Amino acid sequence: DWSLGDFEIGKPLGKGKFGRVYLAREIKSKYIVALKVVFKEQIEKYKIHHQLRREMEIQTSLRHPNVLRLYGWFHDSERVFLILEYAHGGELYKELRLNGHLSEKQAATYILSLAQALAYCHEKDVIHRDIKPENLLLDHEGRLKIADFGWSVQSRSKRHTMCGTLDYLAPEMVENKAHDYAVDNWTLGVLCYEFLFGAPPFEAETQKDTFRSF
Ligand code: ADP
Ligand code: MG
Ligand code: MG
Repeated sequence: DWSLGDFEIGKPLGKGKFGRVYLAREIKSKYIVALKVVFKEQIEKYKIHHQLRREMEIQTSLRHPNVLRLYGWFHDSERVFLILEYAHGGELYKELRLNGHLSEKQAATYILSLAQALAYCHEKDVIHRDIKPENLLLDHEGRLKIADFGWSVQSRSKRHTMCGTLDYLAPEMVENKAHDYAVDNWTLGVLCYEFLFGAPPFEAETQKDTFRSF
């Protein structure tokens, strides 16, 4: 069983809605990881117990070269810590914004990796539901890794919870209908467009305009 004392904490790597992520090194093995920290106060406030539990259980069970590994977790009185594979290249989002768009070859490589990772997840009845450039990370060799399983679900039946990020939402999700693994496949098309063009296809000034453009 792990505790915070087993790790040296390094620089911050990023943050999302609930998580702050730090570079860390397991002291005994010197193994470099990323530690995702979620405050229990936030878990209470936003009632994300179930979500966090799903993230931990689902991501731990997945083993694929293009899915970020979750090695384990622990908690103290205030925080929950997720021990993650370190993605040295950071967010694909940064690369995209830095270069405006990607070359056709680079885009094809990422889309293939993403498609293979999603096919693996879907075979295990896991839907990610929040695929977007901020949740796609790159390792030290530039390999794509799907991260952030906070909205994921493992189920064979259709789901009803509306979730994800507007620019990447499948029409059935926007219309609040039942959805399944196909919502992840929709993002494959959106990302393919965004990689080549530099912006997602349904981006608009306001959320209302994005809805209308579907
Ligand atoms: P949230 O669920 O709050 O969105 P994420 O798991 O997406 O949190 O992590 C937030 C950000 O932290 C990511 O977008 C990324 O920039 C960074 N990050 C997360 N995990 C790693 C990792 N394993 N290696 C490097 N950076 C990471
Ligand atoms: Mg995220
Ligand atoms: Mg999340």
